[in-house]
Amino acid sequence: MPYDISETIKSADTYMFRTYGRFPVTLVKGEGCKVWDDQGKEYLDFVGGIAVCALGHSSPLVTRVLEEQSRKLVHVSNLYYTEPQVELARLLVEHSFADRVFFCNSGAEANEAAIKLARRYAHEKFGHEKHIIISMENSFHGRTMATLSATGQGKIKTGFDPLLEGFKFVPFNDLEALDRAWDESVCAVMLEPIQGEGGVICPEPGYLEGVRAKCNERNCLLIFDEVQVGMGRTGKLFAHEHYGVTPDIMTLAKALGNGLPIGAMLAIEKLAEAFGPGSHATTFGGTPLVTAVSAAVLRSLLQDGHLDHCREIGLFFKNGLERLKEHYGFIKEVRGLGLILGMEMDVPGAPVVEACMKQGFLINCTQEKILRFLPPLIVGREEIELLIGALDRILGEMKTG
Ligand SMILES: *Cc1c(COP(=O)(O)O)cnc(C)c1O
Repeated sequence: MPYDISETIKSADTYMFRTYGRFPVTLVKGEGCKVWDDQGKEYLDFVGGIAVCALGHSSPLVTRVLEEQSRKLVHVSNLYYTEPQVELARLLVEHSFADRVFFCNSGAEANEAAIKLARRYAHEKFGHEKHIIISMENSFHGRTMATLSATGQGKIKTGFDPLLEGFKFVPFNDLEALDRAWDESVCAVMLEPIQGEGGVICPEPGYLEGVRAKCNERNCLLIFDEVQVGMGRTGKLFAHEHYGVTPDIMTLAKALGNGLPIGAMLAIEKLAEAFGPGSHATTFGGTPLVTAVSAAVLRSLLQDGHLDHCREIGLFFKNGLERLKEHYGFIKEVRGLGLILGMEMDVPGAPVVEACMKQGFLINCTQEKILRFLPPLIVGREEIELLIGALDRILGEMKTG
């Protein structure tokens, strides 16, 4: 039955917390890189659920595995083994630096697990004094109390103190600042190899290598938050592979389930003992339903040419954005890797996002002036050309208007 869009919005504002600044649109359907609203209007989706829907919307693979597994077994307690969970863990270990996996339900939870593991390992190995985690300014690690405490953005922390103790912040890409912040009490350094929420900030050459070397010298663990940039987003399975640096702990979530809620914390063998029986747990972590889907998604990422496509199409996309930059003086920089791209402007991004939406394109803006693009990895040239054309028109009008 057709209904007025404002009814949904009115109800949402009545019954739910208004924690999100939402756009006045109700999405009802998706396929590939397209989504439709309840008025039948079509949009090309360059947000992809914020780097979640790597294989696109209504992926036939996901649908098939969901259907098959839901007939077999949806959930049992982690008191028992299930095949899909073990299979996903094996795949992740075989295709990463890691030896062990813990499953949870979100990025924040994966980072919680990473923080707890680092603390517990240091506690057991070096004593309670060694408990400080150095994190980066401008970082984003989640909204739970611990991950908020680890996040280097003041504006989202307002009103929630006292936060968890034991975090220190240094600027990203600054090895000297890291040195200055260091003392015997530091047990880990935590960072996103590419800062996503912070505005698609890439590491400078030598930076990650430098952090790794310092961690080695000082018996500190290195934690990479790959919640946003992992699972093929940059054109390699994990972003750190571009830089030849491996962490001790890595967190994943967003694209891991292509839209089903799942997070994972991966670590090297020497940390296995610190998370023994009873040390950490979650009811829903790694259910057979979600892990069956994730395993299929991961196999597809590895086998079906998605990573090559992502690298190629990402360059094509980036070149398109670079061409816009040549035309419009208020575009400061285009950056990113694969299909996480950012376009920093001198002017607010919100009007561009809104205009794009009117023309049938979903894009994102972070840090007020940085347009961020995170389409499904299956996005094609034609779709990118359509978006670049629309941006050109919109930016052109802004310039003259
Ligand atoms: C999204 C994100 C998180 C938080 O994930 P949730 O699933 O929203 O809890 C953590 N770290 C990074 C880098 C993210 O992009």
